[in-house]
Amino acid sequence: MSNLDQTEIDKFQSFANTWWDAQGPLHTLHEINPVRLQYIAEKVPEGLRGKRVLDVGCGAGILSESMARQGAKVLGIDLAAEAIQAGQQHAQEQCVDIQYQVIAVEDLATAEPESYDVVTCMEMLEHVPDPAAIIASCAKLVKPGGDVFLSTLNRNPKSYLYAIVGAEYLLGLLPRGTHDYEKFLRPSELLDMIRESGLRLRDLQGMHYDPWRRTARLAGDVSVNYLCHCQKPI
Ligand code: SAH
Repeated sequence: MSNLDQTEIDKFQSFANTWWDAQGPLHTLHEINPVRLQYIAEKVPEGLRGKRVLDVGCGAGILSESMARQGAKVLGIDLAAEAIQAGQQHAQEQCVDIQYQVIAVEDLATAEPESYDVVTCMEMLEHVPDPAAIIASCAKLVKPGGDVFLSTLNRNPKSYLYAIVGAEYLLGLLPRGTHDYEKFLRPSELLDMIRESGLRLRDLQGMHYDPWRRTARLAGDVSVNYLCHCQKPI
C-alpha cells in the first residue's frame, strides 16, 4: 500500500486537536460543509436516511458526522490516525452513532466490494500520489446503482491565485502549505479517471467560497473548487 504521501498525512495529523474548532485552522471545511451536505442529500435518491455511506479521507469527520445526523449509517476512513481518534471522540461527545477506521481505501475495496449505497471523497484527491487509484477503489466499493461524490481543486492560474496565493498567503484562510498546486486536478483529468473507473458522471458544479461572508454556494463556474456526482451503472 503506497498510495499515500506521509508528509500530507502528518500535516493533517497535526490539525487533529483543532479539527472540530469551527474558528480553527480548518474553519473553511466547516464553512463549506452545509452546501456539500445539501448537495449529497438532494442527489441521493430518497435522501441519506438509512443509507450505508463510506466517507473516504474523512479526517475528524466534519462531513461524516453531518451525514450520520441525517440518519445515514456512516463509516469514515482515513490514514491520519490522530484525526480518526479526534473524530471518534467528537462523535462520542455528541452522541452520534458512527464508525471510524484507519484503513486504506484500496484495502477496504478488496475486503468489502459493492457494499455502500453512497461513497464520498471530499477535498482529498489533491493530497494523494495516485488519485485515479482512489477513484477506482471508490467505484469498487459502491453498490451497482449507487452514488459517488468527489470534490477537489481545479488547476489553472485563477485557482493558483485564489486557492494558494489568496487563501493561504493574503487572506490566511488556510494554513500555508495546505495545498500543492501541481496536485490540483482539471475537471477533464478527473472525468478521465471517473470514466476509467467505470463510474458515470451525473453532475459537475463549482463550489464558490466567499471569504468575507465565510460561506460557500454552488455555481456553474468550476474554475477553482468543484464537486461532482457520479453513479455506478447497474
Ligand atoms: N474529507 C474531509 C477532510 C479533508 S482534508 C473533509 O472534506 O472534511 C484531507 C484528508 O485526506 C485528511 O484527513 C488526510 O489525512 C486525508 N488523506 C490524505 N491522503 C490520504 C490517503 N492516501 N488515504 C486516506 N486519507 C488520506
